[in-house]
Amino acid sequence: MAIAEQVNPLVEGLERLPVHPTTLAIFGGTGDLAHRKLLPAVYNLAHEGALPERFNLIAIARSDIAHDDYRSMARESISQYSRTPPDEQVLSKLLEQVRYVPGSFDDDSVYARLGEELKQFDDEAGIVFNRVFYLSTAPEFFPLIVSKLGEHGLSDHDDAEVRVVIEKPFGTSLAELRELNPQVLSVFDEKQVFRIDHYLGKETVQNMLAFRFANGLFEPIWNRNYIDYVQITAAEDVGIGRRAGYYDQSGALRDLVQNHMLQLLTLLCMEPPVTFSADDVRDEKVKVLHAIHPPTDETVPNIAVRAQYTAGMAEGKDVPGYLEEEGVPDDSHTETYVALRLEVDNWRWAGVPIYLRTGKRLARKITEIAVQLKPVPHLAFQAEGSVGVQPNQLIMTMQPNEGVSLSLGAKIPGTRMRIRPVNMEFLYGTAFLSQSPEAYERLIMDAMRGDATLFTRDDEVEAQWRICDPILQEWSHEDGPLPTYPAGSAGPEEANRLLSEGQRWRAI
Ligand code: NAP
Repeated sequence: MAIAEQVNPLVEGLERLPVHPTTLAIFGGTGDLAHRKLLPAVYNLAHEGALPERFNLIAIARSDIAHDDYRSMARESISQYSRTPPDEQVLSKLLEQVRYVPGSFDDDSVYARLGEELKQFDDEAGIVFNRVFYLSTAPEFFPLIVSKLGEHGLSDHDDAEVRVVIEKPFGTSLAELRELNPQVLSVFDEKQVFRIDHYLGKETVQNMLAFRFANGLFEPIWNRNYIDYVQITAAEDVGIGRRAGYYDQSGALRDLVQNHMLQLLTLLCMEPPVTFSADDVRDEKVKVLHAIHPPTDETVPNIAVRAQYTAGMAEGKDVPGYLEEEGVPDDSHTETYVALRLEVDNWRWAGVPIYLRTGKRLARKITEIAVQLKPVPHLAFQAEGSVGVQPNQLIMTMQPNEGVSLSLGAKIPGTRMRIRPVNMEFLYGTAFLSQSPEAYERLIMDAMRGDATLFTRDDEVEAQWRICDPILQEWSHEDGPLPTYPAGSAGPEEANRLLSEGQRWRAI
């Protein structure tokens, strides 16, 4: 068999799991997420022919509107936000199978009505549809909706799979998580629960699995013997916009580090899983999180820096500081920037600092992982030749310009031996001409398939919180002024103190 035709038995099963006819029920179906992401994602799946042949959608929300009003609303959302211009035939066929259940989440009649709609779809088709309940609501409703689904007998079915997708944030502290998890698991089995971290649905994040486990080249150097340090950056150039209500309660650590950035760290540091089944992959990710010592009151000041942006420039215009943003209290201590120095204390990674940094209103928008290799042990070139020799750097960029770049030392053409770094690059956009699906497309499909690989397991989210919670606790006791950085800059000076001697943050 030609190499190109060989099928890896470890991944074959996942892609080929059949998708059973499904009814997707979106709680919060009139909300922002449904409007901008979920409905367009469902449409694009229909357009690609990826949805099961028989598919229904039920939206549940407070607005008192009829089925047809909701269909018009969904049509507008899809027309505005779909990544492909809607095809009328596909869209109309999809909307025919859409229904709406109005009412408050605490009202039992909503669940009775939902049960009737689900049964009606089954009766009309003469089959039993699988059910996916998507909780796209404010987090305070998660326990309520889950318990009502249980009380109304909707959490399982003798002849169909029932699954629940839960949006982030899944708890805002370790204590809250420890209340929420048992509440959810008293109604649903862990196998039915799909906790979303939409970062994992991004193509470039999944590409890390391909990069690490489909190439033999990097494994021998992927350890403390060759890697000096790692920097994971998720920088945004925008401010908080009109989201003060959410952001001021959350801050950068909860918003990006606890979930997305720790996901990147685990994918980078995990051992190769035995198979790509959900549990094998997640077992390895959890082991990485367990190998990071939870910070203590004493260690937090040495491993964590937080800051707030002050007035500055963005895209050539003056922009306000965080405390001047609409809706932010004058005395807010919420961090808009965080940098951490973590260590994965295991055989492979012991002693390799893993730096994480994220912030709003930084100089540019970029998400990347930079793996800095150790310098070569000996330079045999004459002094002049050695000047430009830099340790190799491997950069995995998630956005923009998704791809992988490796810096190599190369001889500058000429009669003398002079060296400077050059880049060997792979760019997603030019190597593959097809358009990437949106993260939510992949995740909705996986939830319908029952493949939880790209969703966060209960012990994983707990392990994430065990790292982040002590930092938040320690910060909550500090009431002095926060370090600051001007909007449009690379972040606060204070972040430099996390670095070991000779190391520096990559330019943003
Ligand atoms: P949202 O715009 O505030 O929508 C909330 C939805 O819940 C609306 O459909 C609303 O219905 C419904 N609702 C609120 N209270 C209700 C009640 N008592 N009974 C019945 N329905 C009620 O929120 P969102 O931005 O879509 O966010 C939803 C979830 O996704 C949140 O957990 C959020 O953290 C997460 N998330 C959102 C985004 C995003 O970009 N928006 C990104 C990542 C994660 P009515 O409109 O009819 O009142």
